[in-house]
Amino acid sequence: MIPSLYIHIPFCRKKCIYCDFYSIPYKDDVASAYIDALLEQIEKLEGIFNTIYIGGGTPTVIDKSLLAKLLQGLKGRCDGSTEFTVEANPESLSEEKISILLSSGVNRLSIGVQSLKDQKLSRLGRIHNAESAKKAVILSSKKGFKNISVDMIYGAWNESEEEWKEELEEVTKLPIDHVSCYSLTYEKETPLFTALEGGSVEPLEDDIVARMYEYAIDRLSVRGFKQYEVSSFAREGRQCRHNLNYWENSPYTGLGASAVSYSEGRREENVRDVRDYIKRVNGAEALVASSEKLPPLAMAKETAAVKMRTREGIDFGWFMSKTGFDLQVIEKAALKDLLEKDLIKYKKDKDFVTGVCLKRKGFLFCDTVSSALL
Ligand code: SF4
Repeated sequence: MIPSLYIHIPFCRKKCIYCDFYSIPYKDDVASAYIDALLEQIEKLEGIFNTIYIGGGTPTVIDKSLLAKLLQGLKGRCDGSTEFTVEANPESLSEEKISILLSSGVNRLSIGVQSLKDQKLSRLGRIHNAESAKKAVILSSKKGFKNISVDMIYGAWNESEEEWKEELEEVTKLPIDHVSCYSLTYEKETPLFTALEGGSVEPLEDDIVARMYEYAIDRLSVRGFKQYEVSSFAREGRQCRHNLNYWENSPYTGLGASAVSYSEGRREENVRDVRDYIKRVNGAEALVASSEKLPPLAMAKETAAVKMRTREGIDFGWFMSKTGFDLQVIEKAALKDLLEKDLIKYKKDKDFVTGVCLKRKGFLFCDTVSSALL
């Protein structure tokens, strides 16, 4: 079975002020040409994928007939054992689209709830409200989705810890199996970043954001969602296989504008512009805009940096068989430093040291840990 396929749908109804993903406003004619271009690429694929993930942008913003057409094209690329996820936003997840997804073999839905506080949603530039978010989750479950994930954002300006606790509590009462919690980041070239620089937005203090994160780890665990990666929490057996593949630095194929593919240390990124992508597919031109081939040592270090984000951390034996390198040799100085800073700890089986993983403090400073390993 081939590992993973990612398909990017770069359309949104309206741009959220904090978002730096590549997406453009939805237009039927552009989307129609884009789906045709994607289908031409899909036809070249062979075999059954272990995981398929259609992300965006907002995949559910596209017209229902286009959505059905795209999914029809993927029929031969998945079977009952494929984890097939589609990202959805509450405002565009109609009953009809839910039926199309279900009848096409999609078995996991990742819904961009982001918050259950109307004011926070509106400040973030989202076009749904708490009520429609809850309705979208409940409707998806009622119609037959058994594996629903929701994305939540914490640490927005003007947000109180109390509000975060309330919405987190509320979200765990929904029929879901997975929660991804992301702290708000101020990305360059977003309207939010401009507001930050202009002084009209004042970020929360780091200590408050850290407390919100720690609260999520503890509270979600009490509610049955165990943390298995820095930002990811799942009920038993519901970890996202597609993302686990990324964190093992395993190969994946990316289709669509700005999508990235990775295989044997080579990372290739497609052209970002949607119209350029369509033009190139139609003209049988190259789609790759940039490409880099990592040498084996850099690839091994990258594997260490991404795998360390998972709660299970890195087993030395696994790392050796995956990369051909001894983690304790190639990361000797970094591991010593991270252990001394109390960010990571050794994993043991009886008296034998078998690997390393993040400590509680390490989860708070996961970017520091990853950078040290690169
Ligand atoms: S819906 Fe998602 S992808 Fe689209 S602008 Fe908002 S955050 Fe970005």
